[in-house]
Order: sequence, then structure tokens, then C-alpha cells
Amino acid sequence: MSGVPAPPSPPVAIRRAALDALAREPFDVLVVGGGITGAGVARDAALRGLRTALVEKDDFASGTSSRSSRLVHGGVRYLEHGDLRLVFEASHERRLLRMLAPHLVRPLAFTWPVYAGARIARWKLAAGLTLYDALAAFRNVARHERLSAAGVLRREPRLLSDGLRGGARYWDALTDDARLTLATVRSAIAAGATVVNHARVTQLVREGDRVAGARVRDELDGGDLQLRARAVVNATGPWSDDTERLAGATAASAVHGSKGVHILVPRERIGNEAALTLLTPHDGRVFFVLPSGDFAIVGTTDTFESVSPDQVRASASDVQYLLDAANHFFPSARLTREDMITAWAGLRPLVASDAHADDPGAVSREHAVTERVPGLVRITGGKLTTYRVMARDTVDAVQRSLGGRVTRARTAESPLAGGGLADPLEAIGAATVLTHDAAVASRLVHAHGDEWRDVWGLTEREPELAERIEPSRPYLMAELRWAVENELAFTLADLLVRRIPIAFETRDHGRAAARRVAPLIAACLGWDAARVGAEIERFDAEVERLFAIT
Ligand code: FAD
Repeated sequence: MSGVPAPPSPPVAIRRAALDALAREPFDVLVVGGGITGAGVARDAALRGLRTALVEKDDFASGTSSRSSRLVHGGVRYLEHGDLRLVFEASHERRLLRMLAPHLVRPLAFTWPVYAGARIARWKLAAGLTLYDALAAFRNVARHERLSAAGVLRREPRLLSDGLRGGARYWDALTDDARLTLATVRSAIAAGATVVNHARVTQLVREGDRVAGARVRDELDGGDLQLRARAVVNATGPWSDDTERLAGATAASAVHGSKGVHILVPRERIGNEAALTLLTPHDGRVFFVLPSGDFAIVGTTDTFESVSPDQVRASASDVQYLLDAANHFFPSARLTREDMITAWAGLRPLVASDAHADDPGAVSREHAVTERVPGLVRITGGKLTTYRVMARDTVDAVQRSLGGRVTRARTAESPLAGGGLADPLEAIGAATVLTHDAAVASRLVHAHGDEWRDVWGLTEREPELAERIEPSRPYLMAELRWAVENELAFTLADLLVRRIPIAFETRDHGRAAARRVAPLIAACLGWDAARVGAEIERFDAEVERLFAIT
């Protein structure tokens, strides 16, 4: 049989079929960008019955959508700027997303301590949180609760006690941003969309005045194709000015990138019991200390940035700002750079405006849908939390651009992929019985929702898949196989950065894990020895780009 190429593995064959479909079929709408926004637009459009394609130049959520604070929240901070409409909308979306993906969007209690002389005094906080409850129509997990200083310290014993006047407890929700994006992408596919990652739009093609398709480059296997679509959505977040230029548009910039940095440290070093909302001692900005399993995440910064979104990184001063803020409120932590496991940065794609040109924190997080070039509908701004509403407004604009009737998709009723779990806690109990490992059980259910049994089922046929990828982390080999076969993972970074967050949680950013798992997934993806070496190099370059500190 020498000389006869082996048939492609099933995931590769499925990807090639999708690329063929992109080149062959005319689409009603092409969505460019596979962050949370593009994923939501593709799902909404496909559910409305539009022939929908989505292409993503790298991986789903490889941009801002895997670098957020991972909160699905009403945005208590926006009350200060009088953004009541946004808080109302986001609070409604928080409740909906808890229903559509209960495994991925989980309630989280925040403690907000108030110190003497704080910018937001106790009475102001109480008034704000009452309004916050009201804007959620009093349908949040529970109403906020006022706390005395002793009550705050009972909840967070290692918190700074000097000057503490009291505080409050309120509720928001925590998510896994990359997996929320992936669940939305998979739901779009289930609704009929043709979706390909590692496929970059290099040119937007016009027919007369109107954008009518795109040239797309396959970033994995090489090759270009031409795609025909009656309308194109620019959902490329911080890249969206560049994408607009691909259609020959020369208009002024419509997106203003604001960099946000987070750091991850072992939770035992800070000692926070749950989530905290704090005001930095340096400039009084709101920042969070968030629990994430064995870790605490501290973030974020908020500074305008002009560097390309492909190159955005945390700087030494960003990191120091966050360490100082955490040390101020948790004096016994005495965190240094050596305690930090990872730092990463993302770019908020804010709607450019002349107002607040020197204060990114004050720029509205509302979204804007525009069509400056006929046939090219652009969505900018917004938040992870409000992506479903952003998608609806965008597809409305697409339908108007196509000259048709504006219809509605049932995006608020159909659960996202994995979202059919009635009771995640009960599922974790069942998973613990099967896996004999409470941490693994919790991970399986929270990451995979009602599909957790299918992931675990892989270990029944191949018991070695029940091993952990990294002894200290609760991620199973079975998740790698599942991701390759069901979650469109094609590179080591797709696997170890976004499907499974090992790169965020290990000091070597997953480099050792990548070397261990590459030969194991090679067979599933048809990699020969040379390709395994090249994929490891590609992974090293990607984690350097994501996690190196400038
Ligand atoms: P992106 O996720 O950046 O997606 C754009 C995609 O387009 C990228 O994947 C990119 O690769 C792709 N692309 C670019 N060019 C091309 C091309 N030519 N061809 C094909 N694909 C292309 N929101 C919340 O609700 N809660 C939070 O807690 C929260 N915290 C945040 C914290 C930080 C530090 C930041 C930066 C943001 C935060 N946000 C939060 C906001 C939220 O993360 C963003 O609004 C959201 O992720 C933006 O998603 P997007 O899809 O618009 O952009």
C-alpha cells in the first residue's frame, strides 16, 4: 500500500467536508470571527433558518473571549455611570444563561467590604445593590445582604481589618468563557450552520457596491477558497477595523481596544474564601478577587491599548498593580511575582467614542450594530454576558440588509450544547460514584453538562483514558479524545488552552503536558512524527504569545 495516502481521520474528514461546503454552497450570511459574538450570531442566524457559515482564523474564543473575568454579571460597576439599561439587560441575560447552560453559568456570591473613606460609602453601596436587585426584577439567586465589619470578616477572615466599616454580599455568576463560546458554536452547528476554525478571511469580495462573499485561507492545511454569501457579519471584536478594511473601507476607527490583565495565584496564598469586589488603593477602580478551584484570579486592569490584538500581553507594571492591590486587602498574603502562576491580557473591543477618551473604565459597554459598507454588518462593543442580545440585533440588521422580513429565533428557549442538566449537583454526585474522584466529577459535569457521561464512557472502552493529563489537575485524558472527536479541536493549544485550561493553571503553561499528549492525539488527527514536532513548536509559540510578560 506504499504511496497510497492514508484516508483522513474522521475529525479531519469532517473539517474538509465543511471547507468544501464553504466553497460550494451559497450562504445567506457569513459570520467572520468565532468569539462569543460571532458564535452567538451564527446560532441565532441558523435558528432563524438562514443558510449560515462561520469562519474563525484561529480557534473559537482564541481572542478576547477566553481572556475575560469569566463573569456573567449584571455589572454592578456600571450603575456608577448610570448605565441602567445595560444592567437591566445583562441581569436578564444572566438569568437566562443560567437556564440555557446551568453547568457553565453558576451562581457566585461576592463580598464587597467597605473601608473608612472609601469612594463608595456603605449607604451608597446599599442603595446601589438595592437598585441592582430591582433591575434584576428581584429574580437573582437571592437579594443582597448588608454585613457588619464582623460579618465581613466571618466570611473572609484573612481580609484587611484595619478601617473596615462593614460591607455587603450580593450575587452574580461565574462561567468558563472559552467553553461558553464553544457550547454556542456547537449549538450553531446543531442548528445547521457550517463552521470552520483555523480559517481566515483574507479578503471581502464585492459585487458592485455590495459585499457578497470572502476569500478564506485554510490556516491548518493551506489552500484558499472563495465563499459566496448574500451578507457578511464582521464579528471580529478588536480586529474589526482590520476586517472592515478587507472590504476596502477607509472610514475612521470604530473600535477602541482596552487592555485588561488578570493574574492567577494559588488560592491558599491569598486565602480568599469566595469572590470579592474591591476598590484598588492606587486609583479606586473596581477589581475582583475570584475563586477558580484551587486558584484565585485577580483582575483586571483597564487601559487603552494600540498594539495589535494578536500581540496584546500583560506588562510587568500591570502585574505589579494587581499584586499590590491583592496584597493591600490580604496583607498576610505578601504575594510576589514568584507566587504568580500565570498572567494574561485581553482587549475589550469598546465602541470608539470621543467621550471618556482618557478613561476606558467609563466607556459604555453597550454594543453597536452598523452597516457602513452595504452587505457588511458590523457588531462592536458589548459583553460576554449580553452576547445573545447582541446576536439578535445583528441578525435583525442582516435580515434588513437582505431586504427580507425580520423574524425571531428561539435562542432563549433552546439550551446550549450540554445544557440539558436539570440539576448539576445531582450529576456531580452520580459522577463521583463512577469516577471515585470528586474533583474530576465536578470538572466533568461543569465542563460537559449533560454530555459528561459520554466523556466518561470513553474510559470504559479504553481504561487508560481515565488517567489525569496532569497529576495535580482534574482533567482526564478522555477529555482530549472527546475534544478532538466532538469539539473541533485541531491543535495542542485548542486542547490545552481553550478546551482544557491547563496552560492557565501550570507554571510551564502546559509545555510538559503538550509533549505528553501530542503522540496520543496524533493518531486521532493523522499527524506523523514530523507533524507532532511541528505542532509542539506551534504550541510553544502560542503560549509564549499568550503568557509572556513584556
Ligand atoms: P473576540 O472574542 O476577540 O472574537 C473575535 C474573533 O475574530 C477572534 O477569535 C479572532 O481570531 C477572529 N478573527 C479576527 N480576524 C479574523 C479574520 N480575518 N478571519 C476570521 N476570524 C477572524 N464580559 C463579561 O460579560 N463578563 C466579564 O467578566 C468580562 N470580563 C472581561 C475582562 C477583560 C479583561 C476583557 C478584555 C473583557 C471582558 N469582558 C467581559 C468582555 C468580553 O470578554 C468581550 O466583550 C467579548 O469576549 C468579545 O467577544 P468578541 O467575539 O466580540 O471578540
